[in-house]
Amino acid sequence: MTFTAEREQNWAGTYVYGASRILNPTSIAELQEIVAREPKIRALGTRHSFNEVADGPGVLVTTTGIPTDLVIADDRKSVTFGGGTRYGEVALALEEAGLALHNMGSLPHISVAGATATGTHGSGARNGSLATAVRALEFVGADGSLRTVRRGDPEFDGSVIHLGALGVVTRVTLDVEPSYRVRQDVYLGVPWSELAGGGIRALMELGYSTSAFTTYADDITQVWVKSRVPEGQADIEVPDEVFGAKHHPDRVAFVSEDDNTTPMDGSVGSWATRLPHFRLDRTPSNGDEIQAEYFVALDEGAEAVAAVRTLADRIQPHLLVTELRAIRADDYWLSETQGRDSLAIHFTFNKHPAEVAALLPQIEGVLAPFTPRPHWGKVSSLSPAEVESRYPRLAEFRALAEQHDPEHKFGGGFVDSRVLGRA
Ligand SMILES: Cc1cc2nc3c(=O)[nH]c(=O)nc-3n(C[C@H](O)[C@H](O)[C@H](O)COP(=O)(O)OP(=O)(O)OC[C@H]3O[C@@H](n4cnc5c(N)ncnc54)[C@H](O)[C@@H]3O)c2cc1C
Repeated sequence: MTFTAEREQNWAGTYVYGASRILNPTSIAELQEIVAREPKIRALGTRHSFNEVADGPGVLVTTTGIPTDLVIADDRKSVTFGGGTRYGEVALALEEAGLALHNMGSLPHISVAGATATGTHGSGARNGSLATAVRALEFVGADGSLRTVRRGDPEFDGSVIHLGALGVVTRVTLDVEPSYRVRQDVYLGVPWSELAGGGIRALMELGYSTSAFTTYADDITQVWVKSRVPEGQADIEVPDEVFGAKHHPDRVAFVSEDDNTTPMDGSVGSWATRLPHFRLDRTPSNGDEIQAEYFVALDEGAEAVAAVRTLADRIQPHLLVTELRAIRADDYWLSETQGRDSLAIHFTFNKHPAEVAALLPQIEGVLAPFTPRPHWGKVSSLSPAEVESRYPRLAEFRALAEQHDPEHKFGGGFVDSRVLGRA
């Protein structure tokens, strides 16, 4: 086991963890001893959250040093592996075995346990968040013992998106399917008028996974359409124009000049190399950024984006880009997409902390009629009461946390004040 004594930061360098130490056990047994021993402990993934969600008043513990030990079930319908493993590594192992995940987030560098805990998503109006692929999670509980929660168990829907408040996840089991191929195409310039009257849903349904980008200038600048190529077909025909936007032959640099994105030239390749935006072997994204994201009902998405556009001149000086993605509804108690097909309105801001902090209440103000739920791992200024009002099953989650963690070992900080109602 190694530990660090210096104050450490999240991936973007926007948050300094207040916890006294970060422990990095290399086996589940060692992790169990640590959890049993420490009075206050919170799990830390690959540190990609932009806020204090992973932090706590005691120690932090990562599971990234515990071996992946990836096991494909005999029926080839699920895969089990160490929770600290990054999505990209799971994807490569699955692809080698001729299998696939249903979706990926923009970044393959994020740990599966950490992504699951906050409801991380990709895009696709018919695709649930990444957490909807979870079949089972194995937790180290407050007394150091292991327990597994499986799909179908009464507490499963409350346990998948858990923000680290129910224990430390050691092993994750995800649904898998036969490998498939994807092509990624770029379209430039969708006029805002195309989003009205159900246009936003239609835009989001263009591909298996669709992302629209804008800086709130004249139009939606780029649309990335990731299409599944049916088994037995070499390729598919894609239109030259969609929603007034012209097909473009390849990626157009934005946010970063680095060639760190997955192929966008319409070539056909493995799902693992087309569904994420960023390549596993390159530095992801811009790095020097702050992210915020709000989930609204997909069918109110056009109006919600129009409301944000009224703030364009205030947002633009601090914005790298906004991304719009769709996520199918699910039933998880703490899910940002619980009960409604959603449009995620994402902001990658420059690292201008004071200006971004001043902007958030304004964005949340114009989005208020659409009852936005903020991404658990990104910045927001919504009050605990506002957040609480948007999660009808929060009381049940609090009871579940109380049942599994009566001494509040996994609490403190953000989860106490924002989620668990423990002032
Ligand atoms: C460049 C970039 C791109 C991103 N793209 C997307 C995207 O496409 N879609 C999206 O939805 N989000 C995206 N995010 C946000 C990111 O997916 C989430 O913040 C995610 O939770 C980060 O996972 P992590 O492993 O870094 O966890 P951390 O940030 O380290 O922790 C997040 C939460 O997970 C808990 N946790 C971590 N590991 C465990 C464990 N083993 N057991 C129990 N709890 C655990 C922590 O306690 C904490 O509550 C992006 C972030 C960045 C920096």
